[in-house]
Amino acid sequence: MCIETLLEGSIVNEHQKNLALMVEKHRELIFAAERYIWAHPETGYREWMTDAYLSEAFEKLGYTLVKAGNIPGFYTDIDTGIPGPKVLILGELDALYCENHPESVDGVVHACGHNAQCAALLGVAAALKEEGALDGLCGSVRLMAVPAEELLEIEYRQKLKEQGIIKYLGGKVEFMHRGFFDGCDIAFMLHTTGTTEIPFSGLSGNNGCIAKKITYKGKAAHAGGSPHMGINALYAANLGINAANALRETFIDEEHVRFHPIITKGGDVVNTIPDECTVESFLRGKTIDSIKRNNEKINRALAGAALSMGAQVHLEDISGYAPLINDPVLLDCAEKVMIDIVGKDCVRINRGATSKGSTDMGDVSCVMPAIHPYAAGAVGLGHGANYFIRDPEKACVNAAKFYILMVYELLKDNGEQAKDILAKHDYLYPSIRAYLEETDRLNMSKDAVIYGEDGKITVDYKN
Ligand SMILES: [Zn+2]
Ligand SMILES: [Zn+2]
Repeated sequence: MCIETLLEGSIVNEHQKNLALMVEKHRELIFAAERYIWAHPETGYREWMTDAYLSEAFEKLGYTLVKAGNIPGFYTDIDTGIPGPKVLILGELDALYCENHPESVDGVVHACGHNAQCAALLGVAAALKEEGALDGLCGSVRLMAVPAEELLEIEYRQKLKEQGIIKYLGGKVEFMHRGFFDGCDIAFMLHTTGTTEIPFSGLSGNNGCIAKKITYKGKAAHAGGSPHMGINALYAANLGINAANALRETFIDEEHVRFHPIITKGGDVVNTIPDECTVESFLRGKTIDSIKRNNEKINRALAGAALSMGAQVHLEDISGYAPLINDPVLLDCAEKVMIDIVGKDCVRINRGATSKGSTDMGDVSCVMPAIHPYAAGAVGLGHGANYFIRDPEKACVNAAKFYILMVYELLKDNGEQAKDILAKHDYLYPSIRAYLEETDRLNMSKDAVIYGEDGKITVDYKN
C-alpha cells in the first residue's frame, strides 16, 4: 500500500529530510498557486495572468527573472557559486480547450494539470531560498516557466509567426530558439496524471509529431441550380481522409503512428458547393524516421484525393514535437529519488512502454539528458471533461520535493551523479542550433496538384 505521508519512503539522510521539510513549509503557497491557476486557465502564448501571478510570487521570494517579454514565460537562476552542471526544472503555463468541462472558463480549463506543475515549480523556488538548501551543492539550477506546451490554435500561432513574435509553435522549442536553454546540462519536470494513483510513475518516452494543415480547394457553384459547375472541396477532403484511413494497416504497430484529422471548415452556406475545406491533424510516431515516412504516405493520399476530383490541396506541414526519449541514467536517478520520497511500492517506472501523446520535452531530450515522468494527484482523463486535481499533496507538494531532492542528488559530491549522466548520454544532435535546423527541415508548404496546360496532371507532395 502506498504511504501518503511524506518521506516515509526509503531511508533518507537528515539533510534530505530537511530539504523535504523546506518544501512542506510552503505548502500553503503551493496550494494557493494551484487553485489560482486552475481558476485562470489560458491557452498557449496567451498565459499572461498565469505569468503575472507566478512572476510576482517568484519576485516576492527574491528572484530576479529573465522574462520572454513579448510572450509569457520566464526563467531564473540559482547559483551555488561553485562551478558545476546546470540543472533545469520546467513548469508549463498553458491550459487547453474542453468546452464541456464543468469548470472551464470560456471553454478553457487545465485539463492537463499544468496548474499543478506551476505550483510545484513555485514550491521548489520557495524551498531553494531556505537557509541551507544549497549546502554541499555545486553548479546551478534554472527554474523555467514555459508557455504553450499543448499544440493547439495552430492558426493563432501561425499568425504570431507571421508577425515575427514566435518562430516555433511549442513554447520549449521557442525558448530553445531564444537561447534560454543555452548552458543548461540536464532537464526534468513532472507531469500530473489522472490515469494512475501510483504517486510517481514514468515511461521510456513519448511519440513525436508533425502538425498538419490541409486545405482543399474546389469551385463554388449553386448547390441546387448548377452543382455540375462546381468542384466540391468538402467531398475532396472526405476522399482524402478516407484514402489516409485506407493506409492505416500499413502503419507498423511498434511505431505507434497516429493520424487524427478534424475538419475545421467544411463550407460557407448550405446552398453553395463548398470551395474550401480545411483539415487539421497531427501525424505522430515513435521516431522521427517513422513520422517522416508515414507523413509522406499520408500526403500522397491527400494529394491523390484532390487529383481524383479535379480539386487542389495545399499541404502545410509544421514541425511539431520531437519524440521524447527519457535519458535512462537520469530516469534511474529519478526513480531512486521517488522511492526516497514515497517508498518502493509507490513508484512504477515502466521502461518498456511509450506514451502515444506528444510533448515538447521531446525536443529538449534531443539536446540534453531529459526526463518527463508523472506525479499522481489528478483524477479523470487528461484533456477530458472529468479531469480534476483531486490530491494537490501528491500533484504539487510531492512534485516539489522530487525537484529539490533531484537537485540535491545531481549536484552533491561535486556533481558526480550529473557528470556521470552527461558522460553516458547519447546526444542526438551536437547542439541546440543543429537540432533546430533539423526541425526546420520538416516544414513544408505547397500546392500538391499541378495541372499542366497540356492536360498532364502531376502530384508534388514530398518535402
Ligand atoms: Zn496535455
Ligand atoms: Zn500536459
